[in-house]
Amino acid sequence: MTRCQSCAMPLSKDPDGGGTNSDGSRSTEYCSLCYGDGAFYYKGTDALEYQRFVYDMLVKQGWWKVVAWLATREIPRLKRWT
Ligand SMILES: [Zn+2]
Repeated sequence: MTRCQSCAMPLSKDPDGGGTNSDGSRSTEYCSLCYGDGAFYYKGTDALEYQRFVYDMLVKQGWWKVVAWLATREIPRLKRWT
């Protein structure tokens, strides 16, 4: 299973099937929530801050906190942040 290398969401769960590169092709590494037109939407470089951001977003969407934590705990180890 391929996960977004920025936020850890399985790309299969991405309604758009992945972000877009600057040439319009589909990214195979990043989801459409993190990445579009060849750039990241979130400009920061702090993995823990982004982890917190994604976690808060999931909780706001009604995710259980423990599930949101499980879904985001890999973020600092993903390719974008290492
Ligand atoms: Zn993502």
